[in-house]
Amino acid sequence: MRFVCTKCGEKLNINDKTAACINGHSYDRARGGYYNLLLGSTGGVHGDNKDMVLARRAFLGGGYYAPLARWIGGLALEFTPVDGCLLDAGAGEGYYTDFIERTLYEHNGKSDVSAFDISKDAVREISKKNPRISLAVAGSYHMPIADSEFDTLINTFSPLALEETRRVLNTDGHFIMAIPGEMHLFELKSVIYDTPYKNEVADTALEGFELVMDEPLTYKFRLDSQEQIRDLFMMTPYAYRTRPSDREKVTALDTLECTADFRVFVYKKL
Ligand SMILES: [Zn+2]
Repeated sequence: MRFVCTKCGEKLNINDKTAACINGHSYDRARGGYYNLLLGSTGGVHGDNKDMVLARRAFLGGGYYAPLARWIGGLALEFTPVDGCLLDAGAGEGYYTDFIERTLYEHNGKSDVSAFDISKDAVREISKKNPRISLAVAGSYHMPIADSEFDTLINTFSPLALEETRRVLNTDGHFIMAIPGEMHLFELKSVIYDTPYKNEVADTALEGFELVMDEPLTYKFRLDSQEQIRDLFMMTPYAYRTRPSDREKVTALDTLECTADFRVFVYKKL
């Protein structure tokens, strides 16, 4: 396991049911085989709750974002050395992580993939999908990971903790990031808002990194049931910002043709 103690940064030794460091900090192993390394975690919900995790699982299971998963899987293979290790930071319910791990495993006959998310429900979903992925419940702004530990780091639609991303990557390691493009889900926003806005794509230069690749992936997909549309809506930030009357405009739809618009970046750590 490549995770370290959140409290002191020391290596974790795995026993039967716990992971413990030499300073006596210990973490219980959950039934799914992962460790909750969140600081001060006394229950409570962090990150996505179970409903959101289930909605995302249902939507992504429909394959609408499979072109993106295939692309990121291919990039992970291209930029990770055969004996290298990869981290998915803020992995959600692991749709992309699983795709990446399988790609590496199928091509190399082995893999060394770790992932974490701040949501326990999300991490539990990953553990059900793919037992080869090493898992922890943890946050992006305080990664329980030693300096220069990973060769590749993945971030798909998760908040970017730039300092931490740079710290845990090897020199010459690669950072692969996917974000929503300008037109992503524009039709869905057009249903909700009178004057929908395009997504802003922030400055793509990252300090301490060289930009190696910046490419869009844009296509249309079609949803044919209220349930699918609801699942998509529940995955978006709009689900929380939308008034009930506007939300009903979405849930009343039977079909929706929508734009998927992604930007994918590869950076090399300097
Ligand atoms: Zn410790």
